Amino acid sequence: ARKGKTPEEVVKKYLQKVKSPPEEDCTICMEPLGGPSGYKGPGVGPVSRAESVGQLAQCGHQYHFQCLVAMYNNGNKDGSLQCPTCKTIYGVKTGNQPAGKMEYHVIPHSLPGHPDCKSIRVIYNIPPGLQGPEHPSPGKPFTARGFPRHCYLPDSERGRKVLRLLLVAWDRRLIFSVGTSSTTGESDTVIWNEVHHKTEFGSNLTGHGFPDPGHLDNVLEELRAQGITEEVDGE
Ligand code: NAD
Ligand code: ZN
Ligand code: ZN
Repeated sequence: ARKGKTPEEVVKKYLQKVKSPPEEDCTICMEPLGGPSGYKGPGVGPVSRAESVGQLAQCGHQYHFQCLVAMYNNGNKDGSLQCPTCKTIYGVKTGNQPAGKMEYHVIPHSLPGHPDCKSIRVIYNIPPGLQGPEHPSPGKPFTARGFPRHCYLPDSERGRKVLRLLLVAWDRRLIFSVGTSSTTGESDTVIWNEVHHKTEFGSNLTGHGFPDPGHLDNVLEELRAQGITEEVDGE
């Protein structure tokens, strides 16, 4: 959802002024921070000296202001910004997952490695459709293979925590993306985004099954990298 702010306003919101730029290169354009931005795209107007370099408020990494605006314009312009160096997220990151449905229910069987609890089955269903402006080839169709996709979690305290966070990730359109499948090589198709799911129940033929003692920790870490945690962050 658009916040009604210009890209310059969004970027400024997360930046602090830098009195004198360090003798380092901007890692977006690879040009010195003491000189102008190397980014010369359309719509880049002149920027006064005082605001040509900024420091991201939380992590402190510094970039040309124009480079951050260009990076923001290359994304889905959702009002959030992610530091390209340390991946700190400013605002609420959203993705480009196409429309669909997420459902879940408890099934009365235990997963390998989780003998003391039942299991949760999550079912994702995304139909094929047309790509929007946030996708790699706007206006072109995308395919959706292997849906509904069934995924499994232990119905334990930690498993339920992961489920809660997956529901947030779904709402923020971060579970799937449109792109090229690394499994099949097909382009313009729905693919898993950066959060791993277990799609095998009683076996582990694909490596996406159980047991996998590190799985829940890994998923929590991958969700955190998308800005999704259970910490209250004052929104
Ligand atoms: P991808 O191959 O680009 O991989 C993206 C991420 O998903 C990677 O991290 C990868 O490790 C993970 N991944 C790949 N296969 C997985 C699986 N089976 N279960 C859980 N995670 C998996 O992304 P993709 O194309 O979405 O992944 C392949 C998936 O696509 C498979 O789950 C398969 O069900 C589905 N698929 C099904 C058909 C079909 O006709 N039934 C066709 C193509 C793809
Ligand atoms: Zn730069
Ligand atoms: Zn940073």
